[in-house]
Amino acid sequence: MRVSVFGLGYVGCVSAACLAGKGHEVIGVDVNQVKVDLVNDGKAPVVEERIGELIAEVVDSGALRATRDVREAIMNSDISLICVGTPSEPNGSLCTTYLERVTEEIGAALAERGGSGGRHTVVFRSTMLPGTCANLLTPILEKYVGGTAGVDFGVAVNPEFLREGTSVRDFFDPPKTVVGELDPASGDAVLALYEGLPGEVFRVPVSTAEAIKYADNAFHGLKIGFANELGAVYRALGVDSHQVMDVFLADRKLNISPAYLRPGFAFGGSCLPKDLRSLVHAAQRADVSVPILSHVLPSNSAHLERAVELVERAGKRRVGLFGLSFKPGTDDLRESPLVELAERLFGKGYDLRIHDANVSLSRLLGANREYVETRLPHLAQLLADSVDEVLAHAEVCLVGTRDPDVLSALPHGGEPLLIDLIHLPDADTRRTEPGYMGLAW
Ligand code: NAD
Repeated sequence: MRVSVFGLGYVGCVSAACLAGKGHEVIGVDVNQVKVDLVNDGKAPVVEERIGELIAEVVDSGALRATRDVREAIMNSDISLICVGTPSEPNGSLCTTYLERVTEEIGAALAERGGSGGRHTVVFRSTMLPGTCANLLTPILEKYVGGTAGVDFGVAVNPEFLREGTSVRDFFDPPKTVVGELDPASGDAVLALYEGLPGEVFRVPVSTAEAIKYADNAFHGLKIGFANELGAVYRALGVDSHQVMDVFLADRKLNISPAYLRPGFAFGGSCLPKDLRSLVHAAQRADVSVPILSHVLPSNSAHLERAVELVERAGKRRVGLFGLSFKPGTDDLRESPLVELAERLFGKGYDLRIHDANVSLSRLLGANREYVETRLPHLAQLLADSVDEVLAHAEVCLVGTRDPDVLSALPHGGEPLLIDLIHLPDADTRRTEPGYMGLAW
């Protein structure tokens, strides 16, 4: 199929590259010239496992190219996937500005395209609250196109379930495929994109598809908060929470998936916090009381506070932090709990050095470099290129990454002191050693 992908961020560039890798003819569209140039040069605009090689390969073969020209993309494609950001507004509500803008632009281009080249289908992959497609975006398309959705053009919602860090793998082996279809032909067009991929397919109404994504993210946040609270209580009671969870999770009769149920560090990233925030905001606006959901983010903040307390308890001023992105294997810093932790320590006057192999100034690309330079200049100056530099500086080290280079360099025996934020692979050995403190044990 001929596919346009709007938004070349984490979701869009992975979708574009993987669809091109699957044999589709893909045009990526972004307003950011840096991202467009990077893709056309065969380079990934984000750090993700396997994405660099894949983009180089599909750009080289001509299966993927990028542009800023919406009209040109729409004229040369049968289906558009919209992957623009939907961040939180300051009051917690969902920001739909980018979605509205791109929908207007696509609508205007579709009006020009008319019936030529067959019916075009517009597919929303961005996370958006139930009703956004039907009540906000479809009317915009109908207004610009001057036609009827489901008749003159297709509309579908196809939420994304990839996990940053392993998103290319997740694309080719998805946990499930959800298609919210306005009409069967719209759903057929989406499913033709993924033909041959494993996993169960669910065809549902558009607002159900929108709602499923929030169910997933709210539950992930709830599981992480649950595991971390248990970890904290059991640590205080001198009980090994990981042993508890091993047994808890072995109980397959209750069908518990172990994902997100290991005590570790606080969650973050560009999805879980903002999706929980907008879900709670939507519930409040609808006058629905959601005490469990509204306490997931405060529980997460309390966990971060426990990490700050451990540093205070260590009683040292020179602190090293390993890991800064919101999770290992990505360079995404948005709402990273490690950034939050670094800022708390920086604000308390600790003498901090930070190492994250994906976030060193020498490696950071376009948008992320800009993010660090404009939003985190105070942390940018603390970034160290080498693990040894941080170890030489620190009296106490916080470890929030599983980067093998960091793990193999970490000393044993108490100098520097070690605060394990994530339950390191060798935590069982380390916790018998002097100078080890585990947040998740
Ligand atoms: P992102 O911020 O990394 O990327 C969004 C991109 O859209 C940016 O490159 C921006 O320049 C571009 N853009 C904005 N307006 C545009 C326009 N008018 N035309 C073309 N491009 C435009 O966002 P992301 O992390 O990829 O997330 C995108 C959506 O997918 C969000 O709704 C998010 O909640 C959802 N989602 C994200 C993940 C994830 O792991 N990051 C997973 C599942 C779902």
